[in-house]
Amino acid sequence: MRIGAHVDPADPLAEAAARKADVVQFFLADPQGWKNPLPRADAQALKDSDLQVFIHAPYIVNVASPNNRIRIPSRKLMQVHAEAAATVGASGLIVHGGHVDKGDLADGFANWRKALEQHKDTGVPILIENTAGGDNACARKFDALAQLWDTVGDLNVGFCLDTCHAHAGGEDLLNIVDRVKAITGRIDLVHANGSKDGFDSGRDRHDNLFGGGSPGTLDAELVAAVVRAAGAPVVVETPGGADGQGADIAYLRAHL
Ligand SMILES: [Zn+2]
Repeated sequence: MRIGAHVDPADPLAEAAARKADVVQFFLADPQGWKNPLPRADAQALKDSDLQVFIHAPYIVNVASPNNRIRIPSRKLMQVHAEAAATVGASGLIVHGGHVDKGDLADGFANWRKALEQHKDTGVPILIENTAGGDNACARKFDALAQLWDTVGDLNVGFCLDTCHAHAGGEDLLNIVDRVKAITGRIDLVHANGSKDGFDSGRDRHDNLFGGGSPGTLDAELVAAVVRAAGAPVVVETPGGADGQGADIAYLRAHL
């Protein structure tokens, strides 16, 4: 099982080596901004490396939004990030499930379908990630996720399961892999994170699993069980830099 970390985008190859990671994930532009990614000097090196690469789309992307001033640029950003992700040989572009605020969730699911239908395939699959919060979120509660998948499941879209988001979003980690697979039929990536906040808190604050001795509110053994059951590549998005993340990766490897 390949395990790695979300790292600073300046030098992902060095960051991966510092953590003994087999997988690396990073942003290609400011996660809070609308800027397009710039060409990377290390694109070919990333492609040629043994590392499996995942790219995380900016957090502001919300293709479900009823607001066209958010929805339309979100689609464009998803496209340009997928194109840029292809240049580094990425295995997937992770996009948060998004939310519709005070709007109708059914419109959010339809907006997802429209976004994926318009999306030009770059060879890098879009992986929809479950979220911890968001008003009327498309992929926080699994009853919503099931409706989302009824709407987009035929469009060859993948799924990224985040353990912190599930816990803080109010979905129990026990048997969660079976529950997800009953809905999506697949898990393409696991974000194995602890949580600083409690069950169903709606707050998205990742914590270490083991690194720094800070298990947060989420039982690390439960996260390891999710990793074992999912049988997918794993990325820790935890604090503490190379030391904290390196310890989390080592913990997961010891519990496979
Ligand atoms: Zn995540």
